[in-house]
Amino acid sequence: MKAHDKKSQDSLTPQDALDYLKEGNNRFINNLRANRNLLQMVNDTSEGQWPFAIILSCIDSRTATELIFDQGLGDVFSVRVAGNVVNEDVLGSMEYAVKYAGSKLIVVLGHTKCGAVTSACNRVKDGNITALMHKIKPAIDKENTVKEERNGKNAEFVEKVANLNVFHAIEEIRERSDIISALEKEGRILIVGGIYDVETGIVDFFED
Ligand SMILES: [Zn+2]
Repeated sequence: MKAHDKKSQDSLTPQDALDYLKEGNNRFINNLRANRNLLQMVNDTSEGQWPFAIILSCIDSRTATELIFDQGLGDVFSVRVAGNVVNEDVLGSMEYAVKYAGSKLIVVLGHTKCGAVTSACNRVKDGNITALMHKIKPAIDKENTVKEERNGKNAEFVEKVANLNVFHAIEEIRERSDIISALEKEGRILIVGGIYDVETGIVDFFED
């Protein structure tokens, strides 16, 4: 498999970009890998990069984007921050990816058993972690189906908050980035959420 170039990136629709990730995750869970020569890809991308997607995911060591979607060098922009939360640097990175680097897809990818979400559910306060927890709090506030044991010990509660946290991040992206919301309205990009299951390796995309 070759690295993307300007021509292959231009020819992709946002839905094609999403299909690439689905196909890649399907290879991953079947323990298949696209045949890539990474050193050749270094050479192919030495003059530039044409990634088809930007993926915001957690720092969790089990959720490395290029691995779980079976992607090579130059294929995707990878933004990783604990709890896959949005801030202005993340938004700036996404704006660069879709407006200037030609990416067609923005993915916000949460995951099961997320330590950051669990800690937020436990109202952890410590150093700079406090501010990070604060960014996950809106998802906790939105969760209104679990009535008892609304904390990190309740796996069901944590998973529901993790899902809502993805939706919250997507809302933030649309509300806080005029560049991204305009491109989305024009149909030039897609914004999709999903959850990676650390027990199965499967990514479940939220598609309506
Ligand atoms: Zn996590």
